Amino acid sequence: MTNEERLEQHTHDLLTERGVSIEAIGELVMFLQEKFIPNLTLEQACENVNIVLRKREVQNAVMTGIQLDKLAEAGQLDEPLENIIAEDEGLYGVDEILAFSIVNVYGSIGFTNYGYIDRVKPGILAKLNAHEPGIIHTFLDDLVGAIAAAAASRLAHAHPELEDDNY
Ligand code: MG
Repeated sequence: MTNEERLEQHTHDLLTERGVSIEAIGELVMFLQEKFIPNLTLEQACENVNIVLRKREVQNAVMTGIQLDKLAEAGQLDEPLENIIAEDEGLYGVDEILAFSIVNVYGSIGFTNYGYIDRVKPGILAKLNAHEPGIIHTFLDDLVGAIAAAAASRLAHAHPELEDDNY
């Protein structure tokens, strides 16, 4: 296995460990793009998610964000950061800024997609935002939304004739 393949595998493993499947992210891509790409299949959506997960900047963001979630869950961060991340404080915002480094990869459509999915919180995003006791997904929800938004943007670039700016 090359170093690149190891990083890619590690990124997949981290998402799995935190309860996020490629299919769940693929469903978010479907949510964003099925109105614009009528014959889009979940398989194609998942394929695009996997391509996004090959990008180094995406892997870096996923590793960093999930690490912070895990440390906060274990109570291992210094205060006041521990409490800020554990409580998913609205004014923190660094989780969103980290997610932007993913969205950024495919240009400005990504930001529109990300903003929309972050507002509506469909599918797995609702589950990640449930704030269940003892489980901290402060970074993960934004990372997953951003990966879906990036994959949707990738699809939109592949089908420029079908995209419009209704959202
Ligand atoms: Mg968050």
